[in-house]
Amino acid sequence: VTHWHSPYFFAYYPAASSFPALLADMLCGGIGCVGFSWASSPACTELETVMLDWLGKMINLPEEFLAGKDGQGGGVIQGSASEATLMALLAARTKTIRTVQSEKPELTEADIMGRLVAYASDQAHSSVERAALIGGVKIKNVSSDDTFRVCGSALKKVLDEDKASGLIPFFFCATLGTTPCCSFDKLLELGPICNKENIWMHIDAAYAGSAFICPEFRHLLNGVEFADSFNFNPHKWLLVNFDCSTMW
Ligand SMILES: *Cc1c(COP(=O)(O)O)cnc(C)c1O
Repeated sequence: VTHWHSPYFFAYYPAASSFPALLADMLCGGIGCVGFSWASSPACTELETVMLDWLGKMINLPEEFLAGKDGQGGGVIQGSASEATLMALLAARTKTIRTVQSEKPELTEADIMGRLVAYASDQAHSSVERAALIGGVKIKNVSSDDTFRVCGSALKKVLDEDKASGLIPFFFCATLGTTPCCSFDKLLELGPICNKENIWMHIDAAYAGSAFICPEFRHLLNGVEFADSFNFNPHKWLLVNFDCSTMW
């Protein structure tokens, strides 16, 4: 056993555990509910949706991200941030293929796939590159600046080059709290560029996301309103036992 909860364990991330989370896991195991779709156990999905609205409100996510009474937003629990990034990339891929085909019906899905390109910081977690590998699309690093953050001009530069050579930029994964040094990409610069270029912006805040609950850190999430999807891991800093990765 690698004892992640030892006070002497400094590899990987601080994996959370707590007495309430342990009880919740026992309750889950006891009920043994299969909740893979709403119909398979409506109460399970409803509880997930309500709970993710609570959590979304705790970090002050914009209204559009919440389910509310009959909103189009809402959150789901994934097993890991890696899964959330893959999910976002696949959704973005499908959306872009449909959009391009509606404009140029002569292009096949394979033609478009061959030209799609995703982007992330050179500080991004390895799971972002892996998502692109699984998704069958190219991925490029965007250089971070001397404070390890990606700024708007760096993204703009690669986008312009790639569009000029016939590629189709479709996905950008911004990181809030990078794995090597907890730097924060400049959302307020990157978001408007992605929106203008029809690029899906996913935010990977796996590690640092829980900190946005604190009013003094919430400003680091400013610009989330430009994002298409957002994810953080309560199993890192929120005392929830592994696995619990929340995605809106
Ligand atoms: C921990 C971390 C991940 C990976 O999280 P998993 O839930 O283990 O997939 C991805 N990105 C960042 C920034 C992380 O800190």
